[in-house]
Amino acid sequence: MMVPFLDLKAAYDELAAQAEPAMLRALRSGWYILGPEVEGFEHAFAEFCGANHAIGVANGLDALRLSLMALEIGPGDEVLVPSNTYVATWLAVSQCGATPIPVEPDPATHNITAEGIRTAVTPNAKAVIPVHLYGQPVQIKQIVETSKELGLYVIEDAAQAHGARFEEEKIGGHGDLICWSFYPGKNLGALGDGGGITTNDAALAERIGMLRNYGSREKYKNDYAGLNSRLDPVQAAFLAEKLAFLNNWNARRKRIAEYYLESFQDLDITLPENLPGAESSWHLFVIRHKDRDGLSARLSEKGVQTLVHYPIPPHQQTAYAGLGIARDSLPIANQLASEVLSLPIGPHLQEDQVEKVIKAVQSSV
Ligand SMILES: *Cc1c(COP(=O)(O)O)cnc(C)c1O
Repeated sequence: MMVPFLDLKAAYDELAAQAEPAMLRALRSGWYILGPEVEGFEHAFAEFCGANHAIGVANGLDALRLSLMALEIGPGDEVLVPSNTYVATWLAVSQCGATPIPVEPDPATHNITAEGIRTAVTPNAKAVIPVHLYGQPVQIKQIVETSKELGLYVIEDAAQAHGARFEEEKIGGHGDLICWSFYPGKNLGALGDGGGITTNDAALAERIGMLRNYGSREKYKNDYAGLNSRLDPVQAAFLAEKLAFLNNWNARRKRIAEYYLESFQDLDITLPENLPGAESSWHLFVIRHKDRDGLSARLSEKGVQTLVHYPIPPHQQTAYAGLGIARDSLPIANQLASEVLSLPIGPHLQEDQVEKVIKAVQSSV
């Protein structure tokens, strides 16, 4: 029996008894766009994040696009983004007509730093999008401070960081706008696409509430050229119930991560580094190894499924050939892409499966 990378069916089964009545209520309500289910989840999620406002949108990519639109970032503007992130962070910037400017990460944490932002900043830069990659929070307070000094807005890409904390504070209320994905595989995943934005800025919250809905507050009156990007009420009803499980499920991920860290400390692999004060949501457990593809193949033979997040950095994607960023100009992103390997870490990984992963890794490196 293969140890699966992530078992979404087991996750569903654990919360079905709570979630199904809520989804049925939404289905039978006769109200299928925005409305009370979406508002209920928005309030609960804002509170969970320690933010004043949450806005439900269609997906994580749109959360980023809507944030850039709300800050009026567009053609001629530049936005700093990690060189090693999932491509969506870059896509949001280019889809707004702005240009992504890569920032190389600290290879130990895989995350960008305040110093990295200072080094990469350009005269036309209007914002930075730090990504809490793999669920590991960036040093958000330093980054906000440096960005303010440089005149940059901070839009956090927290698509992998639901429930992560930095110095005891939940991620979700530090930057100007914080973007979330509820894609099924994320720590707070829906049963389809979903996304959200949290903020403490009431004016931005109001603008995004309109931008996601054709730029309109009152039907047939459009103040902005907005999108149709709304969180679905059935998904919102499901997410509101799932939110109650999140801390417990993140704690399970953390226990597995700690056991992996302890079991692998003497092996010839690079383990994920936890900064002091940073409490990861452990969306992914990412190790590094020189012979990544060989290790992945050996683990697969031993019944352990692994994935690579991500094999091709954005600047090397065909989609971004037009930016003219030289292949070798981002050596950290390139090296990470060739060495990273994600081990199974979901909240539904059973004890015997964790043991199997550990034995397989110990006998494969
Ligand atoms: C998943 C993800 C996104 C995009 O979210 P979708 O809901 O799939 O659009 C953006 N950034 C990062 C870092 C992600 O992991």
